[in-house]
Amino acid sequence: MILEAILGLPSVRVIDVIDIVIVAGLVYSLYRMIKGTNVMLIFWALVVLLVAWRVADALGMRLLGAILSAVTSVGLIALVVIFQPEIRRFLLFVGTKTQIDQSWGQRLQFWRRNIQKKGVNYEAYINACMHMSQSKTGALIIFRRQNEVEELVATGERINAPAGSALIETIFFKNSPLHDGAMIVRGNEILAARCILPVTSRLDIDPNLGLRHRSAIGVTEQLDVLSVIVSEETGAISYAVGGEIHNNISPVELRQALEKYGC
Ligand code: ATP
Ligand code: MG
Repeated sequence: MILEAILGLPSVRVIDVIDIVIVAGLVYSLYRMIKGTNVMLIFWALVVLLVAWRVADALGMRLLGAILSAVTSVGLIALVVIFQPEIRRFLLFVGTKTQIDQSWGQRLQFWRRNIQKKGVNYEAYINACMHMSQSKTGALIIFRRQNEVEELVATGERINAPAGSALIETIFFKNSPLHDGAMIVRGNEILAARCILPVTSRLDIDPNLGLRHRSAIGVTEQLDVLSVIVSEETGAISYAVGGEIHNNISPVELRQALEKYGC
């Protein structure tokens, strides 16, 4: 209060500090989410436009100010369209978190599901990936975690069969009609094959990685899933989760990733 009186500064309440910390956290999360994507370029373009508008306004340039003001207001609608995948990812993230935190009933359901997942036999997937890696057979397997993946399944051929390594290899065999695209699995069940995934729009990805790897990353940006890739070119096994790819992993690391992310 004394400082306020002397310096003429408004008093800072505890709630204001909390407010600032929350906003800073949100801005930082937004920055992390769009870092390395071409959305970042759009973000900077919007910042430049906004600054230009304020400068034009301050200098009394009415015509330029009016044009920039119109562009900025239309830009708000454009933002929702452009940031659609990011908004979706953010809402899914919040949804998944609150789903776990909502009630004891749902917590129990979550634990039960995790206990059931402990019974998942990863051998079939690991063996299939090892064989396909040796024979350089391209493969892309999407492991469902918490969220529903019905929209992905709908893009391919529904299978609903127990996941055995022979069946997985047969599906990805080069002459199989189902080998193209991604296989979607849940626990020990193959839900679908030949599915089409969203491709990442990130610019900072190794240029040697093609569409198989880019779509494996893209799907983990939009859904709570883990993707495993076997490269047709190199035979390398990789996995992607949360928009990040881990290249050239060993079968042991593959098992650790599947266990860690509760696939
Ligand atoms: P590889 O190391 O196996 O060559 P890559 O990352 O270089 O993989 P491409 O060579 O472009 O990728 O692989 C093409 C294959 O990836 C296609 O035949 C198809 O099976 C799969 N693929 C490409 N785009 C998609 C997509 N959007 N969704 C699912 N699968 C896709
Ligand atoms: Mg390729």
